[in-house]
Amino acid sequence: METILKIESLYKNFGLVKAVKNVSLEIKKGNVYGILGPNGSGKSTTLGIVLNVVNKTSGSYSWFGGQMETHEALKKVGAIIERPNFYPYMTAEQNLQLVCKIKGTDYSKITEKLEIVGLLDRKDSKFRTFSLGMKQRLAIASALLNDPEILILDEPTNGLDPQGIRQIRDIIKVIAAQGTTILLASHLLDEVEKVCSHVLVLRKGEILYSGTVDGMNSHDGFFELLADNLQELKSALAQHPSIEKIEEEEGRIIAYPKTQLNASELNKFLFERNITLSHLVKRKHSLEEQFLELTNNK
Ligand code: ADP
Ligand code: MG
Repeated sequence: METILKIESLYKNFGLVKAVKNVSLEIKKGNVYGILGPNGSGKSTTLGIVLNVVNKTSGSYSWFGGQMETHEALKKVGAIIERPNFYPYMTAEQNLQLVCKIKGTDYSKITEKLEIVGLLDRKDSKFRTFSLGMKQRLAIASALLNDPEILILDEPTNGLDPQGIRQIRDIIKVIAAQGTTILLASHLLDEVEKVCSHVLVLRKGEILYSGTVDGMNSHDGFFELLADNLQELKSALAQHPSIEKIEEEEGRIIAYPKTQLNASELNKFLFERNITLSHLVKRKHSLEEQFLELTNNK
């Protein structure tokens, strides 16, 4: 798969503030990437660096395999990193015509892009009459006018009502389904989970997880166990080479494996040590629990 953007060991300091620390990410064509992290975790700074509006401290990034100057490469990138800003007294269509003039693209795409974002029937309405959600959708249409290879969105649903959020997410999915690569920064786990295939989780500028959204969900299973004698159960578990942590919670034993381990293997191991379990379940933390664990507890 073609690489759109490769970020390697990126660092950014604002004076004493280390906003980005050793961030690497490879963006491949056709995927939807999320940069997920709480406010202040370095998402916007990372986007600003690759869009050439923030200077990096060290590290590197390259667009489209590095054969092009950043300035040239960015012509193939559609980005919305600020609140949408258009001329209030001009209509949606007139605003997009102006964008076409500036970008040097012809007007032929305007109808198609307004259709994608659900604003074709409002093309003759003045921008000032638009809701925030509509303004955001117009910004997406504008960013799509030159058919970019990748669309970059920074917190695209911030400040929107639930319906507006839903509309933006649906539009992102449609754009992705048409083959446009997407990079989206968000502090909302469910947003990333709903629209992204891959995720980079940041906390205080550092990567906590990088990989598929599904992988984030599955990397952390644990066992809930019960037996007549909890002490014996605990000491037997402690002998298992894969179990790295044992806790007691509401009268049950919770055992965390550090490598792949299934319930039947564990059951057999314990049975061979004369422990008969009355309860054995393999559970996973929800993505939300994992995210909170990743971002808060370290
Ligand atoms: P996010 O987008 O994840 O909320 P940012 O990238 O905006 O995070 O910010 C990361 C850190 O860098 C924060 O501590 C923020 O205060 C700091 N920061 C961002 N931009 C500037 C700037 N222009 N000057 C000084 N500090 C900044
Ligand atoms: Mg931000």
